[in-house]
Amino acid sequence: MRQMSRRTLLGNGAQAVLAGGVALSGIPNLGAQGSAKSAPKTVDYYQKLGVTPFINAAGTYTVLSASTMPEEVRAAIELAARRPVNLNELIEASGAYLAKRLRCEAALVTSGAAAALVVGTAACITLENEQPILDIPTDMSGLKNEVIVQKSHRYGYDHALRNCGILFVEVETLEQYEQAFTERTVMAHFFNAGAGKINREDWVRVAHQHGVPCFNDAAADVPPISNLWNYTQMGFDLVTFSGGKGLRGPQCTGLLLGRKDLINAARKNNSPNSNTIGRGMKVAKEEIVGLVAAVDWFLNQNDAAIEAQCRQRADRIAKHLSAIPAVQTQIFIPEVANHVPHLLITYDQNRIKTTGAEIMQKMREGKPRIELNPSTGGAPASAGLPGGPNTIVVGVWMLQPGEDMVVAKRLREVLQEAIRA
Ligand SMILES: *Cc1c(COP(=O)(O)O)cnc(C)c1O
Repeated sequence: MRQMSRRTLLGNGAQAVLAGGVALSGIPNLGAQGSAKSAPKTVDYYQKLGVTPFINAAGTYTVLSASTMPEEVRAAIELAARRPVNLNELIEASGAYLAKRLRCEAALVTSGAAAALVVGTAACITLENEQPILDIPTDMSGLKNEVIVQKSHRYGYDHALRNCGILFVEVETLEQYEQAFTERTVMAHFFNAGAGKINREDWVRVAHQHGVPCFNDAAADVPPISNLWNYTQMGFDLVTFSGGKGLRGPQCTGLLLGRKDLINAARKNNSPNSNTIGRGMKVAKEEIVGLVAAVDWFLNQNDAAIEAQCRQRADRIAKHLSAIPAVQTQIFIPEVANHVPHLLITYDQNRIKTTGAEIMQKMREGKPRIELNPSTGGAPASAGLPGGPNTIVVGVWMLQPGEDMVVAKRLREVLQEAIRA
C-alpha cells in the first residue's frame, strides 16, 4: 500500500517534469507565465542524497558552505537561469554596474576570492604584453615574477598566487620592503586581516613609488559595508572580496575590484577565454547575476543593524547559559575579518570536564545538527578569533530566525551533561 502510493507520486512527478520541460511553442517554459500544473515537483536533494543540513553557529566557513543566499538573490538567479545570454556582454555590463555601485574604476565577478587572486596576479604579469597569457605558469622566461609580501601575510591562499608561476619575496620591516623591489617585481600583496609591521598606507605608497601594483585580499572583511570601497580608495590597485561570505551571494563567486587596465587584463586571463589560467574558474550567468543581486542586497543593509542583530542573538544564548555554574560568557568582535559580534564561552574545566572539541562533536551529532565556530576548542579558524581547549565560540551571524534558542538549549544540555559526568 505504502509502496503503491509512492509509485503514484513518482508517476505524477515524472509527468510534471515532462510538462514543465516542453512548452507548446518549443521554447523553455517560463514558469510565471505557465500554468501551476506544469511546475515540476521540487525535490529535496539533500534528503534524497542523505546529506543532513545543520544550524550554522559557525560563521562563513568555506567547508561549511559559508552563507545562505537571501530571497532576492535566489530569485534573481532563478530568473537568470532561464535564458541564454552572451557571457561577454554580461561580464561587461555587470562590471560597469558593480564599479559604479562600489565606487571604483572597474570590477569583475570571479569564481571566488581565491580565483580573483589568480586572475588578478595574472593580470599584473600580463599587463604590458598579452603573449604570456598563454605561457603562464610553465614558461615564465623573461617575465616579471616576484611578488613582495610581509612574512606574516603568508597564508592559506598563497597557492592562488603561486598558480601564476610567481615567487614570493618576504619582508618584515618597512626598510626591508623599500629595498625589496627589483626589475622582476610584478606585484605587492597584502592580506587585509593579517598582522604585520607595515600598514596599508605605507604598503601602497612604497609600491607606487616603484610603479608596482598592489593587491589587497579583503575576502572576509565586510562588514563594515564601506570596506567595499575603502581599500580601492586608499590606493590599492586590486582588491578582492569573497562573494559567498558576508555578501551572501553564491558561494562560488568573488569580486575583483580596481584599476581599469588591470581588471581588463584579468578578464583576458579568465573564463570564458580558452587557454587561459582562469578557464577552469568559470563563472556562469547565474553566478554573475547572483553576485550583482547580492551586492544590491548588501548595500541595502546597515552596519549598526547587522551588529545589533548579532548582539541580540549572542545575548539571548548567553542569558540561557547564565544559570550554569563555572561558565563565563563575553561578546567578542574580531578586528578585521568576520567583524561581527561572536559569543565567546569559557568554563572551568575542573567542574565541566570536557574539551571544546568534544562539545563541538556533541553539537554536531545532535538533532538538529549544530556547527559551532571552528575556533572552538582551539582549532585554527579565521584571523583574529581567539580559542583554547576550554573555549566555545558561537558564530551567531549566519543563524536563521529562531535558531539562536535552539543553539542555546542544546548547548546548555551538553554543558550540564558534562557537569554530571
Ligand atoms: C575565504 C577567503 C578567501 C577565499 O575566498 P573564496 O571566495 O572562497 O574563494 C581568500 N582569502 C581570504 C583571506 C579568505 O578569508
